[in-house]
Amino acid sequence: MANIGYIQVVRHCNHFCGFCSNPTTPYTHTFETMKVLVDDFVQRGYFGVILTGGEPTLHPELPRIAAYASEQGLHVRMITNGSRLADRGFAREMAEAGLKLVHVSVYSLRPEVEARLRGATGTLEKAYQAVENAHANGIEVNINCVINKLNADHLDENIEYWINHHPEIRHFIWNNLDPSMGRAEVNQAEFTPRLADFEASLFRAMRLLHRSGRSFRVEKVPLCYMTEFAWASTETRKIVKGEERIVHFLDRKQTVRQTDWEHIYAEGCDVCTLRPICGGLFDRGNGYDPAELAPVFVSMEAIVERIITDPGDPSYPLRTLGAWRADFERRLAEARSAPRPSREEPPQDTTNPVGLITPESLRRFQAKREAEARKAQVVGIAMEHAEGALPGGVER
Ligand code: SF4
Repeated sequence: MANIGYIQVVRHCNHFCGFCSNPTTPYTHTFETMKVLVDDFVQRGYFGVILTGGEPTLHPELPRIAAYASEQGLHVRMITNGSRLADRGFAREMAEAGLKLVHVSVYSLRPEVEARLRGATGTLEKAYQAVENAHANGIEVNINCVINKLNADHLDENIEYWINHHPEIRHFIWNNLDPSMGRAEVNQAEFTPRLADFEASLFRAMRLLHRSGRSFRVEKVPLCYMTEFAWASTETRKIVKGEERIVHFLDRKQTVRQTDWEHIYAEGCDVCTLRPICGGLFDRGNGYDPAELAPVFVSMEAIVERIITDPGDPSYPLRTLGAWRADFERRLAEARSAPRPSREEPPQDTTNPVGLITPESLRRFQAKREAEARKAQVVGIAMEHAEGALPGGVER
């Protein structure tokens, strides 16, 4: 299986998105604490690592850890807002360190919408420059986009721009907003969309990409809101192929190994033909309404077959429906006999501690929170609860 792990290398950021699900914490990484996590992915036989944050380029030793991961044979990727990659020298340094693929996150190409979502102005120009610099240095570029209330109606408009201006970008990822953590949790009214808000524009955007021969993935969108392109659902692909995901969170959650991709379902899901391969509604609070889910009656086998025979994704070894069904039934039986992991407290892997808290990192965290609280007041959003960032026993 082509498992790819995540390491949050920092948790601070130079943008201030109102729906950030991984905001500032007092934890910090040294090269050594990151190296342990890279080694762990290598031992597990992982294909690659995604360096993320916060804004990962703010870690002074990012090129060094990227080079180390690359030397160990991992495919090195990074998720970034593009602000530092807009610097040509830094882009070259990351390419030389072995960075192979960068996910540049852009939410809307309407400057006023992007500025509102980012809590900062002038970010689009830097993202465009980052895309050019990455491409010029041989780093593959994907575009990441968080679906939210403010961009829900024009996801296709963004795609048209990328197709027309950056033909070299061949892969796109949408992530529906996760309203359960960080600032997203306390700013749900402003940023959490209704599923129906984005259904039409997401469909138009996926159709544009599909017709132009580009690929894409969609996370945290129930299959009844992307039925025609259900094979592009990240959760569905993981359910079908039996893949896991490890995230080394730089907060009190520490390491989370996710093997269960099922979330919330409605009563009608019981009769839906896609229920066995659908991740449902990704929500731990009341951000979304299960009443928006509606069963569909299409062929699940056709979707599975498309995933397991995808020539661009050879990661799943079984290529026929019969062989897949036997493997799937075996995995289901195993999962049913094991205790079901809690949604509130996902299973943790405590092999290695993730990061450190030092007097200096705690001081910086407190200063950053004070500065962000002032910014939150100016831009009119609520600050996340600090408790989620702090281990037990640390005073705010
Ligand atoms: S009705 Fe339920 S099981 Fe069916 S696609 Fe929607 S969320 Fe998934």
